[in-house]
Amino acid sequence: MIRLPGLFDPHVHFREPGGEHKEDFDSGTAAALAGGFTGVLAMPNTQPPLTDGPSLAKSLGAARAKARCDYGVFLGAGTENTSTAATLADRVCGLKLYLDQTFGPLRLDDLGALQAHVSSWPRDRPLAAHAEGRSLAAVLFLAAVHDRPVHICHVSRREEVILIRAAKERGFRVTCEAAPQHLLFTAGDFSHLPAGRREVRPRLNEPLDRQALWDNLAVIDCFATDHAPHTAAEKDGDAPPPGFPGLETALGLLWFAVDDGRLTLDGLVDRMVTQPRKIFGMTASPETSIEVEVGTTWEVRARELQTKCGWTPYEGMRLTARVRRTTLGGRLAYDDGRVLAPPGSGRDLAPGAGRHTPR
Ligand SMILES: [Zn+2]
Repeated sequence: MIRLPGLFDPHVHFREPGGEHKEDFDSGTAAALAGGFTGVLAMPNTQPPLTDGPSLAKSLGAARAKARCDYGVFLGAGTENTSTAATLADRVCGLKLYLDQTFGPLRLDDLGALQAHVSSWPRDRPLAAHAEGRSLAAVLFLAAVHDRPVHICHVSRREEVILIRAAKERGFRVTCEAAPQHLLFTAGDFSHLPAGRREVRPRLNEPLDRQALWDNLAVIDCFATDHAPHTAAEKDGDAPPPGFPGLETALGLLWFAVDDGRLTLDGLVDRMVTQPRKIFGMTASPETSIEVEVGTTWEVRARELQTKCGWTPYEGMRLTARVRRTTLGGRLAYDDGRVLAPPGSGRDLAPGAGRHTPR
């Protein structure tokens, strides 16, 4: 059994409001605690998307009532909120730009709107971007022109990590995250699953992409699950939405890399605790830790998971690290299959939390 600080995930989808049958702040934060995460940042591509005061208040109100671990919520950048987004900056953990295909309507193709967001979002508040391929070059350039930091979500391809490396070498203020599914798997690894269950964005790539992530590990500031739950029925339906659930398997999967020496324990803690908190300016609750059992194998079973979505792409996989206990703020929050932290006990990590009442 080893003890680590509580993990921090800067990229989850909790589907509230509008998709509570897939996941909500209650089940999502229960899954987080079971996976060893004591803080999470939730994405804004909900229904409606979180782009203004009323939609944000709805999500923050649900989070305040239901969250069992610490959390922040992102504001979404749309074409309609270029002049108002900055006024909401202290209520959220950052602004999210979607430059490529994702689940929901938040994709931002318009250069004018994109430029308006990059230039007006406060420089001291995090700006995160889903930017693949050429979009990555565009957002790096815009951030540099407007002299501000930018965080790149779920880097997955060789050319992307190479471009970020070059940008960092030139002094660009860019940070990035990578997800377990891209670090450890390729498109061919899930051929046993029905096609809909293989759908995830960014897509799973080729072995050379995966290898490039490890060859450039120093460029990858942090790990993020991109926990993106949809129900099994939706994944098996006619128009399967993209996304994998990931909170409860991330540490166990990344432990493969610790076991085979690609990742040191310090490197793991740096990328799952220290750096994500630093990038998003989040302090940890005191007396927060997890106990991880290592060296014995456990088999992933969807029916034993806390997520509401009811399936996992890792069904039946044997992992060698398992979170047994999670302590948050001095209280035992998860104990060997039982979530003990009650709904509403989580803390809003936004700088202005508590100064606003949900409308
Ligand atoms: Zn995502």
